[in-house]
Amino acid sequence: MTASRSVLITGGNRGIGAAIAAAFVANGDKVAVTHRGASDLPDGVLGVQADVTDPESLDRAFTEVEAAHGPVEVLIANAGITNDQLLLRMSEKDFTDVIDVNLTGVFRSVKRAIKGMIRAKKGRIVLVSSVSGIYGAAGQVNYSASKAGLIGIARSLTRELASRGITTNVIMPGVVLTEMFDAVSDEVKAKYLADIPAGRFADATEIANVVRWLSSDEAAYISGALIPVDGGASMGH
Ligand code: NDP
Repeated sequence: MTASRSVLITGGNRGIGAAIAAAFVANGDKVAVTHRGASDLPDGVLGVQADVTDPESLDRAFTEVEAAHGPVEVLIANAGITNDQLLLRMSEKDFTDVIDVNLTGVFRSVKRAIKGMIRAKKGRIVLVSSVSGIYGAAGQVNYSASKAGLIGIARSLTRELASRGITTNVIMPGVVLTEMFDAVSDEVKAKYLADIPAGRFADATEIANVVRWLSSDEAAYISGALIPVDGGASMGH
């Protein structure tokens, strides 16, 4: 697989993002991760501080990565949050805060990344969505809307940029027990588990390996795709 590329992962200090970072490091790439002041980063990565809700901090982070590793050739838009509430109790702020990170944050990250990719006439973009984006989930009107929106971004961007050697794909992980699930009760986790044909939750490395492959030369002819990595829960969508 192509190695030594400049790779940037948003929210790569922990959870799925950290596993993705480790997969690219193992591939021999130059890996940078954004974080919001974390002291603990995956081994072998360059940490750059950025909040995806703040375009200036993102711009600074990209500039740092460009200086250290060269223009970003692979962008993994992974940073995301939940703020679950049934719609009756969901405030407008609960909704827009999640959209700001999960959807507008991806818009900002991708917009900044494509400048260099267009110049280089190559690039790989992978957006981290969720099964909730296509199936919905009670309490996740905000989160589901944000994750469904990523499919629109990837498909429109494919129409804009595929002819320039830039692919944009969406990965749809099933449940991975990261800190994102700390607030979810055992009862709800058991319900999720019952819907997974594989009979288990995912390991973050199983998501990371697919992201890495989608970012490789081998996947040059895949763009605008929605790839589930969910133990069969969505039946391939
Ligand atoms: P975690 O909560 O473990 O990690 C989230 C990451 O996003 C952290 O690095 C966090 O940084 C970062 N982040 C959050 N808000 C911002 C922000 N405003 N600016 C920059 N970075 C931010 O989540 P996961 O690893 O589980 O999730 C990673 C992605 O995978 C998310 O997009 C999530 O929606 C998606 N996903 C997760 C699933 C799961 O089962 N876990 C299933 C399907 C999709 P910080 O440490 O500073 O908070």
